[in-house]
Amino acid sequence: MKVDIHPEIIVQSRYGCLQCAKGCRSFMVGLREGEAEHIEKLQDWKSVLGVDGLFIRTSMAHKTKTALAKHEDGRCVFLGQDNLCEIHRHHGLQAKPFACQLYPFVLSPVGGKIRVGLRFDCPAVCKNEGRVLSDHYKGVNDLAKHLIPSGYKVEKAPCPDLKSGVKLSSQRFEAFNESLMKIVSSNAVPLWQRLQWMRKFLEHIDQVKWKNVGDEDFAELLNLLEGGLLAEIVQQQQKRHQPTVRARKMIGQIFFLLSQPPQHQALMNNQGYFKRIASRLDQAKQMKLMGNFNGPLPKVQPDWPVCDLQALEKSFGSITKEMDELLTRYMICRIGGVNYCGPNFYQYSVVNGTRSLILGLVTAGWLMRVHALKSNRDSLNIDDTVYAIMTIDGNMGYSKALGMGAAKLRLDYLRGHLETLINWYCT
Ligand code: SF4
Repeated sequence: MKVDIHPEIIVQSRYGCLQCAKGCRSFMVGLREGEAEHIEKLQDWKSVLGVDGLFIRTSMAHKTKTALAKHEDGRCVFLGQDNLCEIHRHHGLQAKPFACQLYPFVLSPVGGKIRVGLRFDCPAVCKNEGRVLSDHYKGVNDLAKHLIPSGYKVEKAPCPDLKSGVKLSSQRFEAFNESLMKIVSSNAVPLWQRLQWMRKFLEHIDQVKWKNVGDEDFAELLNLLEGGLLAEIVQQQQKRHQPTVRARKMIGQIFFLLSQPPQHQALMNNQGYFKRIASRLDQAKQMKLMGNFNGPLPKVQPDWPVCDLQALEKSFGSITKEMDELLTRYMICRIGGVNYCGPNFYQYSVVNGTRSLILGLVTAGWLMRVHALKSNRDSLNIDDTVYAIMTIDGNMGYSKALGMGAAKLRLDYLRGHLETLINWYCT
C-alpha cells in the first residue's frame, strides 16, 4: 500500500516541525484502541508529570471515547515545561499517540487511494517552512500502514457522491477533483475570480443530468465546462452588493463556527456540567449576535478588537500576491488531499464540500478584516491571511457543529448567495 500525495501539493508545500507545541497546547488528542494502556504501562508518569489523571472520557474521540487529559489552560498533561513531549523524550516518537505522530498530515481513504493532505493550523505548514514534502513520503507511508486495518482493501475505498443521489466511480471522482484543482491553481485570474469560477462550475454541475452522461464523455464535459467558464469569468465585472439580511445571518453563523479558537474544544471538555451549560448558552448568544450587520463584535476569541460589526462590512482593499499564494496553497491542499468531502469532511458530497470550501474562504476574507482591525489597520497584510487560514482550518472538518443538519440547511440556503458573498467579503 502506498499513500498518494497530489503532485500539485508536492510542488507547493513544505513542512518541518518548529517544536512550537501549538497543537499540544490546544487540540483534544483522541486515542486509538490500546494506546491508553500502552502509554500507562511505559512508566510511573506521576513522578514525571506530577498529575494523577492521564486520560479523559470524551465523545469527541470516536471509537475509544478516550483522549489525553489536559491542564486547565488546554495544555496536554504530557507537555513538559520546556515545550517538549515527555512521552517522546523518554520513549521516542513511536511511543506517542498515533494522532500526534501523524500531525500535521491528514490521511483520507477516498476513491481507491490514501490521499495525503496537510493541516494549516500548524504554523510551519501555513508559513510553508521546512523540508520539501517528498522528504516526508516514507514517514507518512509508514504511518498510513498503522491506520489501515489489516484486510482493508485500499483500492475499494469509496468515493463521495457527486451530489445527492449521484454516485461517482473512482475515475469520475478523479476527473472532477482534477477540474477543481485546475481552477484553483490557475494563474489566469486572481483568487476571488477563481472562487467565482468554481461557484459557476458547480452551478452547471448541478444542472447536468449525469445519468445520461457516459464515462467517455464525463471528463470531456468537465473540461468544456471548466474551460468555457473562464472566458465568462474574465469578462465579469466585480459588483459589490451588500448581502441580504437573511444571508448575512446565515454567513454570520458560519463566521462564528469557523472562528472558534483552537483551545475551545479542549477547554469545554475540562469544564464541569453547569459551567459547560453556561458556556453553551453564551456561545448561542454570540452566534446570534454574529448574524447581524451591526452591534458589538462578540469576543469569540479573547483578543478580538472592540468594534462594531459594521466596521467589518466595508472593503479592506485587495490582497497581495503573497496572500493570494497562501490562500491558493490552502485550497490546493484541501482539494488534493480530498479534505473537503467524504470521510474527512462530514461525508459531504463533492458539490456540497466544494461549496463549503468556498464559504470557508469567504470566512477567511472576513477574519482577515478582524485581524487587521486588531492592529488598527484598514488594509490587509500577510499576517491577516496567516491568522485567518490557521483559524478556519482548525475548525473545518473538525467542528461537530459544522457537520450537523443546521449546517447543511445553511449551505443549501447560501448557495444562491455565493456570488454576492465572495464579492463582499473577499475583495
Ligand atoms: S502526547 Fe506529546 S505530542 Fe501528543 S499532544 Fe501530548 S505533549 Fe503533544
